[in-house]
Amino acid sequence: MGFSYKLVEEEVMRLRCTIAVNSTLVLAGLLFFATAAGTAPKDGAAGPKPVKNVILMLSDGTGPEGWPLIRWIKGAPLNVDTILAGAVRTYGADSIITDSAPGATAYATGFKGTDKGISVGAWNVTIDAAKEMIAPKYVPLATLLEGARLSGRATGIVATSNVQHATPAAFSSHWHDRSNYYELGEQQVYQGMDVVLSGGSQYLLPKSIQGGKREDGENLVAVIKSKGYTYVTTKDELAVVKGTKVWGAFAPDAMAYDIDRDEFAPTEPALAEMTGKAIDLLSANPKAKKDGFFLFVEGSKVDWAAHANDPAGIVSDLLAFDEAVGAAVDFAKKDGDTLVVVVADHGTGGITIGTKEYSKYSTTDDDYVVGPMRKVQVTAEGIEKLLAGADDQKIKAVMASKWGIADLRDAEFEAISTTIAEKKPLSPIVVPMLSSRARLGWTTGGHTGADVFLFSYGPERPIGLWQNTDIGRSLASRMGFDFKSLNERLFVEDGAAFTPEGFTFTVDKSDATNPVLVVSRGASKARLPFSKNVVLVNGKTIELEGLVVSAEKLDKVYVPAQAVKVLKAELK
Ligand SMILES: [Zn+2]
Repeated sequence: MGFSYKLVEEEVMRLRCTIAVNSTLVLAGLLFFATAAGTAPKDGAAGPKPVKNVILMLSDGTGPEGWPLIRWIKGAPLNVDTILAGAVRTYGADSIITDSAPGATAYATGFKGTDKGISVGAWNVTIDAAKEMIAPKYVPLATLLEGARLSGRATGIVATSNVQHATPAAFSSHWHDRSNYYELGEQQVYQGMDVVLSGGSQYLLPKSIQGGKREDGENLVAVIKSKGYTYVTTKDELAVVKGTKVWGAFAPDAMAYDIDRDEFAPTEPALAEMTGKAIDLLSANPKAKKDGFFLFVEGSKVDWAAHANDPAGIVSDLLAFDEAVGAAVDFAKKDGDTLVVVVADHGTGGITIGTKEYSKYSTTDDDYVVGPMRKVQVTAEGIEKLLAGADDQKIKAVMASKWGIADLRDAEFEAISTTIAEKKPLSPIVVPMLSSRARLGWTTGGHTGADVFLFSYGPERPIGLWQNTDIGRSLASRMGFDFKSLNERLFVEDGAAFTPEGFTFTVDKSDATNPVLVVSRGASKARLPFSKNVVLVNGKTIELEGLVVSAEKLDKVYVPAQAVKVLKAELK
């Protein structure tokens, strides 16, 4: 075996000990580590004061370099500039470079996650530095949003992706596989949130209805309406909607990039509009007047643009996210008892201002980075839509008018023309044309292991270097709960819940797409459908304070502790 990581670590420890004995440097070192660990209180320890409202905002896939890029292009200070607070370590249980599912799980539950897992315990743990932040594998983990709801707060989610996408899903549902939008989406409908503004209507409707994709026959839009939500689908409807419960689904799947909206999706609201409206609705809710509110906001598609190495999409949606931060901070300034925390889950694309090909970095003026990017009017996805089936003249016209590229080289023109004729994806062909003109570099089409910026505003805001998990734990503590008691309250394993009470239980899979936990005592039975919050018993439907969650990989079902009380009263 060659160079060993363990040996290096031991070597560093020994050196540190030597320094400790020999030098007063140790004190400085200890102070550094005390600060670097952040100020998250351990469960039960005294920490910062409670806060009434919490707004947690996350820009997906946003490493540090995105912020100066958009600041240059805006040509003015950003909203985040005045609230810069520190940085966050983002690694997961099984990778130094985390993905959206474990990244969001860490913030939402206070535990490091495994790739693909949505707020369930990590099942693959390879990173030593994650080992103290791991929950039992595959077990559903209570989230900040669930804790906030049980604390009496009004709760909401805003995102520009479909709401079932990994990050918003991790605050409102539990499943080992992020791609199961149907299971995640169903749990969200039964989660008891007050405001949901996002995309994703196709995952709520059955295949039998036009635009629907669900195979379980469930019409969750009908369920949403029956639960008292006003269901809105356009920005005009959103602008005038009132009431305590609002569900906005503005696109069948993800919403459009901010810069593309006018051209391709004019009925969709902007992220800042959704954020402002969500704050208006939540803060006016009687629950919030008494106990406050919790809002999670995701700028979802900076990450998507970065995966595509499209600088237009990054600039578009990070500027839009910064506008949304402005809306949240404005509210917090007026309110005085609102904590705003702004993070990312990881970097994506490894975008840099400056490239390998461009050696004269030390004389890079506005004509390069800023000039080309300010001419951009649509994303690469927009260019692709505009150029579908385009002839030569249109190619030149669109590249000049929408991307400011009036000097297309012959080879570039040929590449575009051929790709259109072959009906192949055009985005990968055009993005280097913009990146090279703007002197923007990329290191990957995937994620990066960057520490991400932490921004915060409000009473006793978090500052310094944090673990993503400690941000979650600290926000829980600021809202007056801890994840240990919350998990005990919301997720009791079926055997532990029912066997001591003399109940028997089995899973009815006669409808394979809608399994039901059946709990019996003698001849009386109760039915608890998976991914809902109800008990069907004695002809009644009794609502529970949390979800019935199947941990498929463990062949177990988890129920709120409250379900046992209900069943003891109902099953005679
Ligand atoms: Zn992500």
